Order: sequence, then structure tokens, then C-alpha cells
Amino acid sequence: MIDSDHDMWMFIPGPVNVESSVRQAMARPPINHRGKEFSQLFEALRPKTQRLMRTSNRVYFSTSSAIGLMEACARNCVGKKSLHLTCGAFSEQWHKITLVCGKEADAIAAEWGRANRPEELRKALATGKYDTVCMVHSETSTSVLNPLTEIAAVMRDFPDIVFCLDTVSSLGAAPVLVDEWGVDVCFASVQKGLALPPGFAVFSLSDKALERARAIPNRGYYFDFLVFEEYGVKSQTPTTPSIPHLYGLNHQLDRIEAEGLENRWARHRRMAEISQTWATERFACFAEAAYRSPSVTAVTNTRKLDVPALNKHLAPLNMVIASGYGKLKPTTFRIGHVGETQVTQIENLLREIDRFIGIPAGV
Ligand SMILES: *Cc1c(COP(=O)(O)O)cnc(C)c1O
Repeated sequence: MIDSDHDMWMFIPGPVNVESSVRQAMARPPINHRGKEFSQLFEALRPKTQRLMRTSNRVYFSTSSAIGLMEACARNCVGKKSLHLTCGAFSEQWHKITLVCGKEADAIAAEWGRANRPEELRKALATGKYDTVCMVHSETSTSVLNPLTEIAAVMRDFPDIVFCLDTVSSLGAAPVLVDEWGVDVCFASVQKGLALPPGFAVFSLSDKALERARAIPNRGYYFDFLVFEEYGVKSQTPTTPSIPHLYGLNHQLDRIEAEGLENRWARHRRMAEISQTWATERFACFAEAAYRSPSVTAVTNTRKLDVPALNKHLAPLNMVIASGYGKLKPTTFRIGHVGETQVTQIENLLREIDRFIGIPAGV
């Protein structure tokens, strides 16, 4: 299962292993990013990315990691004040980014391990103080998956508000329904659910998001939505992009369509169920039930398992898992099951962790 030139299978929630044919696609020689061949590549990618995000909105490609798009939302969308729904490290980071961009921003903080609540969102929006809502779909630090169907139902009652959604660890792994949910700015970097090397991001913009950007001064340049649109209409990116990523994405989106997006979601759901069941039997799941991500399982380390020692045990077997994130490092560890990871690989990993703990097979 492991590619010959991969040292490790990464049971971490990104970056993840990149399939060998994708790496080969990325090794093709560069092309002129202002030439016809490039525009053809861009035009091939556009509908595939729209299908991936379940949207007819415009889609764009950013040679940056996803955090760049958090900054883009602050700079392009926030005129009055942004409301951040936070529930872990990445959503909290986004709130801080909006503030350091010089914008006004409040947060409704869910306790780490719990999901954001639609009724709290409704109450906050009813004050009329906000023009933008920012939230994370799958909070990778806590392994919470937020209830987007219910959140989207609230957002529909506030049609003037621009809705920005981070889908970094859900796109390609869980249903991300941009049009159905009315998401105005949806973004993800590619090193998690899309299983490409890091350093690149995709995003979609609604008409409302572009209209908003037109009314906001000092958007900067690199992440200015209107600059992306100006070049996008020419099937180009504003600056010289990571062309290898565009090649890789084009090939990987074909692979994802060959697997079937729904099948891919089901595979992730299955891996998550296996991990959650195992975690509940051996330890405890950190995320509240009914709100658990299909991409990653944060495990409360009730046995005080020595995680670095476990990774030393796993290393000769070419496996690695993730420690807890940020303030959760001393109390949790995380099993990533995202990208190209298969059910049998998760089963093997969990068996191996059992062996390390001293739990006999079949128990
Ligand atoms: C990994 C992650 C990020 C950061 O993505 P980068 O590509 O490193 O910028 C942001 N949000 C979530 C939910 C993540 O999992």
C-alpha cells in the first residue's frame, strides 16, 4: 500500500500521503501561465472544482495555504464587523487574523470539543451588528464537525450577511454543499481531503461576496477577490501560480470523480466510525457525539499513553499519528483518516496501537 518513495503513512490530519500518479502529474514541465495551454488547464479545472464544491459559483486557485484565505475574507468582506463562530484552534486563529487585519470582530466561542450552535448564531445576528460570518466546518484541532445544514438555515434569514466557510479538513472527505448552504466564500487548502502536497488552495465566491469586495477599501493585492476575478475571466491567475499544483489537482479531481465523491465521503465516514468506536472502547472521544469529523478523531488520552513512544513503536512500521493540537497536546492525541487512507489501513493502525498498549487481538 505504501509507495516506494514514501517513508511513512501519515495518520495525521494533514499533510497526507500523495498518490504516486498525482506526484507524477505534478512533475510535468512548467508552461507559460499567460499562454493558451494554461488557460485550457484552468478551464478544465473549473467545472471539476465546482462539482467538488457542489457550486455554480466562480472558483479560483490561490498559491498560498488556507490561512491566506482567512486573511482574504477579513480584507474583502468585513466592512462593519465580523462574527466568528469558534470551537477550536483554527477558528480562533481566524478571529485573531481578522483583528490583526484591522477589522472589527467578535467571537461566539463553543467550548473545545463542542460544536457551534445555530440558535446562538441567530441571536447574535439579530443584533444587526455584523456584516460577515466566519466559521470552520471541520475543526481539525478538536475533530468537531459543525452542523452546516442547521447553520445554513439561520444564514438564509440574514441575506445581507456574507458567509465565509473554512472547509480545509472537510472538502473531499465530507459533504460540502456550497450552493445548498448558501456559502459566499468557501475555501480549502489541498493537503488534507484532496491529498495533494501543501502550499495551494481552492476557493469559491458568490456574486454577493464579489459585490461586497467592491464596497470595501484597502483589500491589499495578493488576496484581492476582484483581482482574482479580473484574471479569472481570462482563465488565468493574478500571479504566477504553482503550476505543478494545478496539474496535480487536475489529475486528482479525475481520480476523485472515478472513486465517486459520495463513495469518498462514505469511505471517510466508515474510517471515522471505526476510529470512534475504538477510541470509545479504549479511551474516550474528545468531540461531542453527533458532531464528529469524518477526517480526524481526537482521542482523550485517559490511559496517559506516551504518544511520542507510540510513534517510535509505529515508525518501523511506516506509520505516524498526530499529537493533540495546541492546548490539547497534553490531554489528547489525534488519528487522521483523510485523503487516500483506506479502511484496512486504519484497522491495521488501531491493531498496532492495541499491541503497543498490551490489548490482545480480537478484544
Ligand atoms: C490545516 C487547517 C488550516 C490551515 O491550513 P493551511 O493550509 O496550513 O493554511 C486551517 N483550517 C483548518 C480547519 C485546518 O484543518
